[in-house]
Amino acid sequence: MEKQKRNLETICIQAGWQPKNGESRVLPIYQSTTFKYSTSEQMGRLFDLEEDGYFYTRLANPTNDAVAAKICELEGGCAAMLTSSGQAANYYAAFNICNAGDHIISAATIYGGTSNLFTVTMKKQGIDVTLVDPDAPEEEIEKLFRPNTKAVFGETIANPALVVLDIEKFARLAHRHGVPLIVDNTFATPINCRPFEWGADIVTHSTTKYMDGHAMAVGGCIVDSGNFDWDAHAEKFPGLTTPDDSYHGIVYTEKFGKKAYITKATAQLMRDLGSIPSPMNSFLLNIGLETLHLRVPRHCENAKRVAEWLEAREDVAWVNYPGLPGSQYHALASKYMPNGSCGVISFGLKGGRAAAAGFMDRLKLAAIVTHVADARTCVLHPASHTHRQLSDEQLVEAGVDPSLIRLSVGIENVEDILADLKQALE
Ligand SMILES: *Cc1c(COP(=O)(O)O)cnc(C)c1O
Repeated sequence: MEKQKRNLETICIQAGWQPKNGESRVLPIYQSTTFKYSTSEQMGRLFDLEEDGYFYTRLANPTNDAVAAKICELEGGCAAMLTSSGQAANYYAAFNICNAGDHIISAATIYGGTSNLFTVTMKKQGIDVTLVDPDAPEEEIEKLFRPNTKAVFGETIANPALVVLDIEKFARLAHRHGVPLIVDNTFATPINCRPFEWGADIVTHSTTKYMDGHAMAVGGCIVDSGNFDWDAHAEKFPGLTTPDDSYHGIVYTEKFGKKAYITKATAQLMRDLGSIPSPMNSFLLNIGLETLHLRVPRHCENAKRVAEWLEAREDVAWVNYPGLPGSQYHALASKYMPNGSCGVISFGLKGGRAAAAGFMDRLKLAAIVTHVADARTCVLHPASHTHRQLSDEQLVEAGVDPSLIRLSVGIENVEDILADLKQALE
C-alpha cells in the first residue's frame, strides 16, 4: 500500500527519526565513527552491500540518515544523502553520472561557487560544462546537446541573479536527449517549490541556507526522485548500468532499482571522496528543518514588503525580486512558486558601485556577511565578495550587475528592517 502523503508542515516536524520503544524522542547525535557487530560474517555482508546496517560514519550514520530521510520526504523523492556542503552536493550530483570526456549543460545564472566548480575544477577533470542563458528559446538550447551530454543543471531561483528557472522547459530538453535534469532548489526550498513535480529528476541543496536557517552549519543534500530510467539510456550511464569492479561487480540499477543513483553516490563517491557532514551538524540542521515551514513564508512576506518599499524610492535605480508584479520572472515565479519565492532581493543604487559600499557600511541591523537565507537580515555586494573571481563580462553572463546589492531579508519585524534601510540610504 502506498504511504499516505503527509503535508509539508507535518513532514518538517515528524519525518526522519522514528524512535522505537524506550528510545530518545529527539533525534540523537550518533557521534561515533564506528558501529559494533558480534560476528565477522555480519560485518562482511555489510561491506558487500548485501545487508543494510551502519559500520562506518563516512558511509552512513543514523543521525545523518534521519535528516536525509526528512529532506527526501519534503522533496517527494525516493532516496537522499547528506553532504558536508552544498558544493559537495552539486559536485557529487554531477560527478555520479559523468566521467572524463563527458559534457553538461548548465544555466549560466548559477551560484558563483557552482560556476567555478563546473568551469574550472571539473574542467580539469575532463568534464566540459556549457553555460547557457536559461531564458534562451528551447530550440537554441537544443543545439547545445552533444552525444556525450550527461546532465542538465539549473537553480530554481538563481543565487544571486534571482532568475527563475523554467523547470518544465529544462526537463523537456533533458528528457528529449535521454539525460536527467538536476535542480539546485536551495533558495526556493521544498516549502515553496518541489522541482520533481515539474519534471526534475535530481534535486540538490545547500542546507546551509534556509534549511539550517540559523547560519550554524554548512551542509548539503542530494535527493533522487527515482523517476529517471537509467537502464533506458544504459549506454550513457555505464557507472550505474554495468558492473562496478570496486564493489564486487554490483550493477547498481539491477540491485538497487530506484535507489541506484543515491546508492552509487554513497557507496562509491562518499567512500572515495568522503565529504560527509558531522552528525552534530546534521542534528543542528534538523532543528532548522523543524521550523522551515514557519520561517520561509515570513521571509517571503518581509522580502515582498521590502522590495515594494525599495522600488518606490528615488535613490534606488532598480529592484529585482521575482515576487514583484513588474519582475521579468513574475510569471514563472507564480507558476512554480505560487506561495512565494524566497527572502532574497537584489537591487542597485543610482550611485552605482561606490554608493553600494557607503550604504552597506551605514547599515546597523542588517549585517555585512558572506551568507544569505538565514533568520537575520544580511547584505552582500557579490562583485566585491562572492563573485570577485569573475570578470565584469562573466558577472554579466551570470546575471550579476556590478552594482548589485544582495539583501537577504530576515524574519525580524519588517518595520525595523525598513527603518534600518531608510537611515542607511539617507
Ligand atoms: C550557497 C550555495 C551553494 C553552495 O553551498 P555551500 O553550502 O556554501 O557549499 C550552492 N548552491 C546555491 C544556490 C547556494 O546558494
